Amino acid sequence: MNNPKQATSIPIDLLRKYDRPGPRYTSYPTAPVWSSDVGADSYIQALQNASKNQDDAFAIYCHIPFCECRCYYCGCNTVITRNSDKVRLYIDTLKKEIENTAKHLQNRKNVNQLHFGGGTPTYLTIDQFNEILDTLDKHFVFTDDCEKSIEIDPRVTTDEQIAALVKRGFNRISMGVQDFDNDVQVAIGRIQSFDLVKAKVDYCKSLNFDGVNIDLIYGLPKQSLESFKTTLAKAISLRPDRVALYSFAYLPSVKANQMKIIESELPVTEDKYKLFALAIEMFTDAGYLQIGMDHFALPNDGLSVAQNDGRLHRNFMGYTVQASPEMVGFGMSSIGYIDNSFFQSYSSLTQYMESVEKSEFAVYRGMQLNQDDLIRQYVINALMCNFQLNFNEFYNKFKIQYHEYFMKEHKELSEVFVDNCLDAPSGGLRMSSVGRTCIRNIAMVFDAYLNKDSGSKKPTFSRTI
Ligand code: SF4
Repeated sequence: MNNPKQATSIPIDLLRKYDRPGPRYTSYPTAPVWSSDVGADSYIQALQNASKNQDDAFAIYCHIPFCECRCYYCGCNTVITRNSDKVRLYIDTLKKEIENTAKHLQNRKNVNQLHFGGGTPTYLTIDQFNEILDTLDKHFVFTDDCEKSIEIDPRVTTDEQIAALVKRGFNRISMGVQDFDNDVQVAIGRIQSFDLVKAKVDYCKSLNFDGVNIDLIYGLPKQSLESFKTTLAKAISLRPDRVALYSFAYLPSVKANQMKIIESELPVTEDKYKLFALAIEMFTDAGYLQIGMDHFALPNDGLSVAQNDGRLHRNFMGYTVQASPEMVGFGMSSIGYIDNSFFQSYSSLTQYMESVEKSEFAVYRGMQLNQDDLIRQYVINALMCNFQLNFNEFYNKFKIQYHEYFMKEHKELSEVFVDNCLDAPSGGLRMSSVGRTCIRNIAMVFDAYLNKDSGSKKPTFSRTI
């Protein structure tokens, strides 16, 4: 099956129809169904099981939660502080967690993906950052093709820090931009000029990073079609290798900092669709390929090539070309996937640090996947990453026929077939170019937990578009 041509515009009616609350599927099963019965003991057992696959490379995620002040829209797990003692203690705990993990993984050492996220990883000084990297180097072996990436905030990251990252082998950098319009920046409490971002992007390009990415958000307060058009044009003029375009999830009941956002300044739903449709149109017109639902990449970027070849992968760090199904997370709130199980650490700094001190790890919830979970995870990942599912490959992996196993789900897809979002060429399922936009809705059909009444409070999901 070949991938269909890119869409350059999306019918607004379709966006409106499929916009409903739903998971983002950064994991399947999604985090709200994970259990608090899974803790440090289960994690140690999983690491020891995983240690047997000595030759398999895995990915590492490191969470640095600190920021100097909190942006109003922020949905990340952050700690706002200028207290250097707190930072010192966190680094020591992180190093201890790395050592504990290496002890249980024994001779399993190869790492083919390393990502630092936050918070603001460059909140740390060059020496502090190198200290963490030295600890990782001591216990693990980074493969020659290892993708080493980091999120930076252009407002606080110096050129010296960027140069130091290159020295340590970092080859991909992502900058938080969100929007270039001054009124929008005031409304979200994050002021950064286009000139500042351009200087950082140009500097990174001069250092020959394999990829310079920027993050944008649509649906922010004060965004209008006119202002966003200018933001998109400015973003395109920087020629980033990749762009992540996230939908703003306004959940003030969950994220108290979002109460600073004036609700009446948010674009009305109809306009939010238009902002998204405009972005797809402008990026694809500028030569970018749409990756998954909300990413764009230049045609020669690794993500575009991998998506065309049907070998794109996805984990908590986003889309990736590295096939490392297993990932170890370090730091407060980090998530790992190892031995077919998810594990998440405490999102509170104190609980994280105390737990690592007492019980080696700070895992407070997780989930061991059963065979049905693994089957559905495969289908959802295939559709989210490569926009298609090949029935033969599915059979070869699980020795079951798609149409027999998913008879009920396939019937439920009739609406998306009628809307030409999905088609069924012989031997598989394939998203149409416009259907990519409702990928989360299609994934929801294969989610065995979504409609089960667990008796507990329903999780709060953002909207799918
Ligand atoms: S810089 Fe990023 S992580 Fe820090 S508060 Fe702003 S959005 Fe949140």
